Amino acid sequence: TPVAAAFTAIVTGAGSVRGIGRATAHALAADGYHIAVLDLDKDAAEHAAEEVARAHGVQASGIAADVTDPDAVEAAMATVEAALPPVGVLVNNAGITSPTRFLDVSAEEWDRIFDVNVRGSFLVTRRVAPGMAERGFGRIIHLSSVSAERGGGVFGGVAYSAAKAALLGFSRALARELGPSGVTVNSVAPGLIDTDITAGKLDPVRKADMVEDIPMRRAGSVTDVADVIAFLARPASGYLTGVTYDINGGSHIH
Ligand code: NAD
Repeated sequence: TPVAAAFTAIVTGAGSVRGIGRATAHALAADGYHIAVLDLDKDAAEHAAEEVARAHGVQASGIAADVTDPDAVEAAMATVEAALPPVGVLVNNAGITSPTRFLDVSAEEWDRIFDVNVRGSFLVTRRVAPGMAERGFGRIIHLSSVSAERGGGVFGGVAYSAAKAALLGFSRALARELGPSGVTVNSVAPGLIDTDITAGKLDPVRKADMVEDIPMRRAGSVTDVADVIAFLARPASGYLTGVTYDINGGSHIH
């Protein structure tokens, strides 16, 4: 069986200090993976890498990259491949949301939400999948959302819900294609997680109402999500592919 310490895990969007990506980078490093952080924000990416390397004694690099730009993805991957062990894990975590109601969504906004969430995941996955298949080991994990399953209702509107649902189809179809090469492809669907993605735009009263409706009576934490991603990323988790794990405190049981 492959060992985590022989591989690098890429986490996109792990710059955000209170974000799911940052917690995921820590969880993967705790399991022994070396870490590459790709984020729009160069300083944040570098800071995340230093923090993870210091905390877990793994190698880590933080690289500025816009995941929607194929040239930027190529340049970032060249840096990853020169600096770190081969890529064994990809967590497509970089994402943006918007609460806009359907009749107010412009074509530009629709494209922006799809660009980061869907095209970004496609571009990075396309770049790393051949190497994983060649080496016969890979774990690809997508950040979908409960919004994809129940049609919005947390913060994101139609564009976000549609983009996160697109990731489920992408993930499942890719799982079929890459399975024979030893590469698993899975998704997580978090509910309300306490991060900065809503940029202070989630009304506290609405948030309290939402928490009332969650059987576990709290918003999720980033470690609630990171722990499940780390589980899916383990070398030993090789018989789970094409699945979606809900992490929503019971708010959507189906
Ligand atoms: P966050 O806003 O804290 O972090 C997102 C990160 O992505 C930021 O560091 C940002 O710089 C980076 N990013 C944005 N656009 C990028 C681009 N084009 N290229 C590279 N990096 C880019 O968000 P979060 O709450 O930690 O969310 C992480 C993921 O989890 C997202 O995909 C989000 O949709 C998903 N998710 C979040 C929740 C929630 O409640 N927080 C629920 C379900 C799903």
